[in-house]
Amino acid sequence: MPTETFEFQVEARQLLQLMIHSVYSNKDVFLRELVSNASDALDKLRLEKLWDDSLDAEVSDLHIEIDIDKEARTLTVRDNGIGMSYDEVGRLIGTIANSGTAKFLEELREARDAAGEEGLIGQFGVGFYSGFMVADEVTLLTRRAGESQGTRWTSRGEGTYTLETVDDAPQGTSVVLHLKPADPENQLHDYTSPWKIREIIKRYSDFITWPVRMVPERPATADESGEAPEPETLNSMKALWARPRDEVSDDEYHELYKHIGHDWRDPLETIRLQAEGTFEYQALLFLPAHAPHDLFTRDFKRGVQLYVKRVFIMDECEALLPPYLRFVKGVVDAADLSLNVSREILQQDRHIEMMRRRLTKKVLSTVKDMMTKDQDRYATFWREFGTVLKEGLITDSENRDAILAVASFASTHDESGPTTLKQYVERMKDGQEHIYYLTGESRQSIENSPHMEAFRERGIEVLLLTDAVDEVWADAVGEYEGKQLRSVAKGQIDLDAEDKETSDGEREKQNEEYAGLLGWMKEQLDGDIKEVRLSSRLTVSPACVVSDANDLTPALENMYRAMGQ
Ligand code: ADP
Ligand code: MG
Repeated sequence: MPTETFEFQVEARQLLQLMIHSVYSNKDVFLRELVSNASDALDKLRLEKLWDDSLDAEVSDLHIEIDIDKEARTLTVRDNGIGMSYDEVGRLIGTIANSGTAKFLEELREARDAAGEEGLIGQFGVGFYSGFMVADEVTLLTRRAGESQGTRWTSRGEGTYTLETVDDAPQGTSVVLHLKPADPENQLHDYTSPWKIREIIKRYSDFITWPVRMVPERPATADESGEAPEPETLNSMKALWARPRDEVSDDEYHELYKHIGHDWRDPLETIRLQAEGTFEYQALLFLPAHAPHDLFTRDFKRGVQLYVKRVFIMDECEALLPPYLRFVKGVVDAADLSLNVSREILQQDRHIEMMRRRLTKKVLSTVKDMMTKDQDRYATFWREFGTVLKEGLITDSENRDAILAVASFASTHDESGPTTLKQYVERMKDGQEHIYYLTGESRQSIENSPHMEAFRERGIEVLLLTDAVDEVWADAVGEYEGKQLRSVAKGQIDLDAEDKETSDGEREKQNEEYAGLLGWMKEQLDGDIKEVRLSSRLTVSPACVVSDANDLTPALENMYRAMGQ
């Protein structure tokens, strides 16, 4: 097959432009990205071989290798992992497979406006393309394990790339960076220096579980001796979760998070847990600082990584945390599981069930701590993940109270910030018996609702709930600390009982007085309504439609209809 030239997809091109032109203080992370990809590729091959022993692949010495050629000014990162087929290279490298990239670019622009280009880009690496920060040409040679032909991909990052098939490619992938010209002013960015490479690997990739090797430069005179110098292993390969806590720095934890979370930002919170006894395991979990764009899509990849005694077993192990904690990233390393454990077995395993319960409680108690110790961090967490956590109020009755304790909601009390239920209850007026809420599309549409009039008039606080899930959990939960949760739009709300303005006698008298009107209205609207009654809930609007306490609200009706029920 001849060499073919392709155009980068639009988003890919935008991203590349950012890489190429960023005047960017921390270019070092490109190596972290390439090593991270190589490590993933080795994990994948190991697993594939485990499941399919007939796979024609060599797995006895899986490793990553870094080669420096000072003369040619190239830096090569090589792995003997899973590799990619011709089609995969086109799909994975030529496009940005990740559908959230547009959103990512937007976020990037926003953040740049806020932080300035310098401050910002230094914190992230966008995978493979970050190579273009330091190289003006990148060549990737790869062969998928089990296949005979390889593929060469080449690009200068400027709009097009080429693909060709290659007959004698070794198994795995090598990425050759043709480094940009040396900057004599800035020795810090000399990526042909073994010292520099050693330092970057130590800093960003020390925990990688595969050896990262580098062949030190041959002394120019030793060429004829014929002895190739021994490669040195640059990383310690020590599992962070197995090391004593005070020996591991926050930075090290954060680098691990970036590797497994495929995120370029620091996590919001790091959680460690050590379980001893009959079923031993260690967990290192992270709460991200940002909700992923696809958190609510059907194919969101949830779950932490599962290891057994330091050996990687599977990614996205969803059995270890409930669905409403699907955004949590991390590693769980269990001592007593079989290396061949399957997802089906995990779903039914009693020990796994115990782990899930313990990990769930640990995550929730961490959020609780955050709430008391660091309001800002908690606020970030809830803004990003509150909506998904509320699903737990419906599905996890065991932890309902713990979730309610860390939940907060917009309220008429304070426009600028949310309130907890505890704070709401503390503010309840004398004689107020219930916790009132109203659901709707937006804060504004709720506040304009006629249902709100009487509450506003009487200064009674109402929670303003705008997530689709709110209606469902509020119904399912029913009460908080003995106080009923009542929708302002449902059933008879007797505010007068709460502020005792109108006596029962007076109410009866009014009912008699208006009996004719009410009867006439009911007749006119027959079929559309069940009942017409006088209400104390309105102050400005003459009438409003209310559903029965047990009826579905309009939003719920819509939801069920959308679900085809
Ligand atoms: P990410 O690692 O977050 O998926 P990257 O841009 O780093 O994004 O890589 C894109 C994809 O290209 C990877 O998901 C992987 O499928 C493929 N890839 C990259 N490097 C390698 C490699 N060394 N071996 C095999 N596949 C790779
Ligand atoms: Mg990557």
